[in-house]
Amino acid sequence: MRIILFGAPGVGKGTQAALLAQRFGIPHISTGDMLRAAMQSGSELGRKAKEYVESGGLVPDEVVIGIVRDVLASDACRSGFILDGFPRTTAQAEALHRIFAELKINDVQVVSLDVAEDEIVRRLLLRGRADDTEQTIRHRLQVYADATAPVKAFYAGKVPVREVPGMGTVEDIQQRIVAAVA
Ligand code: AMP
Repeated sequence: MRIILFGAPGVGKGTQAALLAQRFGIPHISTGDMLRAAMQSGSELGRKAKEYVESGGLVPDEVVIGIVRDVLASDACRSGFILDGFPRTTAQAEALHRIFAELKINDVQVVSLDVAEDEIVRRLLLRGRADDTEQTIRHRLQVYADATAPVKAFYAGKVPVREVPGMGTVEDIQQRIVAAVA
């Protein structure tokens, strides 16, 4: 199972990706989690990422592309993976396509989670992560609209794109995703 989980901040990608990873026994690759871990550990990657993550901007493409490439090339991803929060720009999607070709990775599908914007803001404010203030939420939603939403058009016609409504309980949404990727 090779899934790119796509959608705006706050649609539930992280929650759903973790459940899918458990269900299918494959790695959950979250660039956001990796960047936060790097910031915690104070590594060079963490120092590079800090200002972008804290303001709700995007970490430069070459930085995130490099970390995703390394993970995908590892043995852990041999039988599948779930990408959560990557790609977030068309340049990242193009780079990912080259990485798939190079590593001979096929059968990738996109699951696009869709949630209304007022519900997204409500969920993010409830979550209360350090970058979940009203100002950064607004900025992240704008960045999503400008830079990330166009990634869906990049995938149209290249790989199957499964549209999944992201409203309802965590279990309902998980069932919908499982049915969509079967
Ligand atoms: P997330 O946990 O997916 O909401 O990501 C949190 C933050 O990490 C984002 O607001 C960005 O600053 C950064 N980030 C995560 N993934 C990416 C990516 N693919 N490209 C650029 N920045 C990213």
